[in-house]
Amino acid sequence: MNETKTVNEARLWVNTVRVIQMPVEKVSIEDGFGCTICQYSTSVKGTMRNHFNKKHQGFCWSKSSIPCKVQCPFQGQLKGYMQVKDVIEDGPEPAMEAWETLLNTAFNDAVEDEEREHSYEDQDLRLMNAFIAKIR
Ligand SMILES: [Zn+2]
Repeated sequence: MNETKTVNEARLWVNTVRVIQMPVEKVSIEDGFGCTICQYSTSVKGTMRNHFNKKHQGFCWSKSSIPCKVQCPFQGQLKGYMQVKDVIEDGPEPAMEAWETLLNTAFNDAVEDEEREHSYEDQDLRLMNAFIAKIR
């Protein structure tokens, strides 16, 4: 397997998907902002303003972004915020998609492995294996 290609694929995927239906376990959920034009999200207001300056010129960032919950599941090369759709609300739980279940499992494994001194890049690579189920 070509690792570099896989990292690039995962980065592409992370940049494309940006919104997850369920929070990833063991990753802190933060208050953030989501772009309503694309799926970009961040925990920092100023970063959202920069995003609009760069990507959506002519739009008012404060009108076209909404407060939302965000998570930052990756720490290495893939670092970036993802918007979390459903954060513990009343009502029936939405069924987790297979790839999301895989992601949670892979993430739990990665967290447990942390004691064995894996680097963030290693952790990202392991999480990516869960993403591959979604990409392919
Ligand atoms: Zn946007």
